[in-house]
Amino acid sequence: MIHTTRVMKKLSAIILIFVGLVLTYFTAKTFRRISVVDVPTELRTDHFAISYQGIYKEEAQDVADNLEEHYGRIRLDLNGPDHEIIQVFIHATQREFNKGTGLSNSTANGMSRGPNKFHILWTNWFNGILPDDPIKTALHEFTHCVQLNVLIKKAQEELTLEGRGDFDSAFEQKFINEYPQWFWEAICDYEAGIVNEISVKYGMSKKPTLAYLNKSNQIYNVGYTIIEYIVEKWGKDKLPVLITSYVDIENVLKVSESDFEKGWIDYVNEKY
Ligand SMILES: [Zn+2]
Repeated sequence: MIHTTRVMKKLSAIILIFVGLVLTYFTAKTFRRISVVDVPTELRTDHFAISYQGIYKEEAQDVADNLEEHYGRIRLDLNGPDHEIIQVFIHATQREFNKGTGLSNSTANGMSRGPNKFHILWTNWFNGILPDDPIKTALHEFTHCVQLNVLIKKAQEELTLEGRGDFDSAFEQKFINEYPQWFWEAICDYEAGIVNEISVKYGMSKKPTLAYLNKSNQIYNVGYTIIEYIVEKWGKDKLPVLITSYVDIENVLKVSESDFEKGWIDYVNEKY
């Protein structure tokens, strides 16, 4: 009898703690909903115009500060040319992100739109499970913008457009057909510092090749390490050369693609 009472007491305590946690969660969620900035607002910095709604001003400021802090480094790493002010859109929910980007049923939390515009979702414990760091997502998307500005500048210098229709569609065709998707994403994760050991190990267990990573989401698990390998073995100066060569590994790094893959896998096995 005494024993049963003790078990009951323990159960009640566990239930109470659980109910308390749920209540705290929903109270915090409600408090957030009524205290965030609820009108479309713009924050301007030297290089970015940041539009937001449904998040705190301090959170938008945090995105702005981090973008400006890493701005010079990322442009220097990739030899990014001058560009217009970058338009940044921060969305508070997946629904608003999808509406803003025109994606339907997407679970993406960042998307670049051309060389001078990108969107991010302000991920947190109230709108996602195991949320990513939205500050790093912003740096990732900004790096897409820098890559595009580099590629567009090069194309403007080189593309012979006579008889090829307008520049934008000629460039877009070349980009889609020739620029490797794995590199397009990997360099963004590298510049944004998006990497963790567990994800790297999981991604590598799929025995990825570059061709596989062109079509697989595993690039987000292992992409950082490919660029890290390039930087450690050949130096950072090779990054802008790889971009403008449309990632011509054989000519820029003087190694065959299969030797490059082998070297990268050995590097990761040793380091991670
Ligand atoms: Zn990306």
